[in-house]
Amino acid sequence: MHGCLYLPITNYEKVFETARERFFSDQSISDQNKEYVKKFLDKYDVEGIKPSRKAIFLKHIAYVLRLTPDIVADMHQKEKINSYFAGIKTSPVRGGKNMSLATYQTVINVSNAFIRWLNAGEKPKGFADIKNGKRAKRDLTPADMVSWEDVKKMVAATSDIQMQAIIATQAEAGLRPSEFVDLRYGDVEFNGNGIVKLSVRGTKTESSRRIRHLYRCSPYLQKWWREHPLKKKNSPLWIKMRNDWKNKQRIVAYEEYGYRALQLRVWDIGKKAGMEKPLDFYNLRHSAIVMSKTAGLADSIAMKEFGHATTRTYSEVYGRLSDEDQRQAIEKIHGLKTEEVEQEKNAICGVCKYSNEPKSDYCQNCTHPLSATAVEDLKSQDRKKEQQLLDIKSVIKKELMQEILEEMRS
Ligand SMILES: [Zn+2]
Repeated sequence: MHGCLYLPITNYEKVFETARERFFSDQSISDQNKEYVKKFLDKYDVEGIKPSRKAIFLKHIAYVLRLTPDIVADMHQKEKINSYFAGIKTSPVRGGKNMSLATYQTVINVSNAFIRWLNAGEKPKGFADIKNGKRAKRDLTPADMVSWEDVKKMVAATSDIQMQAIIATQAEAGLRPSEFVDLRYGDVEFNGNGIVKLSVRGTKTESSRRIRHLYRCSPYLQKWWREHPLKKKNSPLWIKMRNDWKNKQRIVAYEEYGYRALQLRVWDIGKKAGMEKPLDFYNLRHSAIVMSKTAGLADSIAMKEFGHATTRTYSEVYGRLSDEDQRQAIEKIHGLKTEEVEQEKNAICGVCKYSNEPKSDYCQNCTHPLSATAVEDLKSQDRKKEQQLLDIKSVIKKELMQEILEEMRS
């Protein structure tokens, strides 16, 4: 016997509540500093900032506020602030280890946001040296960009239909990692013509949404969507299954796929497919933008689809277009034929509207024949059956005649 238990996804509201309790009961933080933070959280509430981000803020700002009785009084004194941050960098965290670089950078980020707000929008002089060593810009080259041919290779390297959907969907949708793992079952909508509408939650606020329209990934996404074991509007779209034992009973538990776990699976499949390009979700996002650009999607539309506030990020992609991409774009403008293969169309079922992979012979969903060969196949199968039936009839007839003859003889 095994039961099915649905583990709810992390309750960030609760995570935030815990972080808030911990922060405001922290004896080493002054009441004055707590007062500033209270007001700052009010501002976050007004802006509709997600509870997960509020929890991150509280956890990290505490490192700074424990060191000063009044941050506003200290924030203009560079030497003091510098010594605080030098201390934070080398302070041991839980487990006795030094703070990780990522945590330290988050401390800097939340401090700068907080301190700017405290100082009417401007960075106080005391914080002049407190900045994040700008992460070196990834030097992604045209050769790093993943093509749809690569996607098909990876999809062929796994029989896991969820992973097929994950790879194809991210390679076309190009979502930010947090947007991708945040997708819910009910955020997906299939149109009759093979277009998929994804309702994507913004990264900062709960209410901001944008619609991403997809086409190429729809056969893979729809296959997974149909097999999804939970199928509730609010179920995470990507789920990990885990076998647990409870009172000697096997329990199948589902949980949301975390970004890290997803990334590991994608890398693993990429390796199997012999891919040598970077396969992190950021590169897939850039690749998706390049693919949309070479397909001729206008910048104004792409900006909305990929969720860019400005054209700046989007135009950076120009640097990732290859000479070949450029040549094809010019040839397209002048109506010249290129050797570029026509983009394959998905095989949409005329009966149930299910979106099947290009060149499918039969509908995955209702087995309706989709190609001319499948129709011919069915016809010849029918003919074969008819012939078999005739053969059987004639055998029976012969046997009957035989019996009658024998009876007459006797
Ligand atoms: Zn069908």
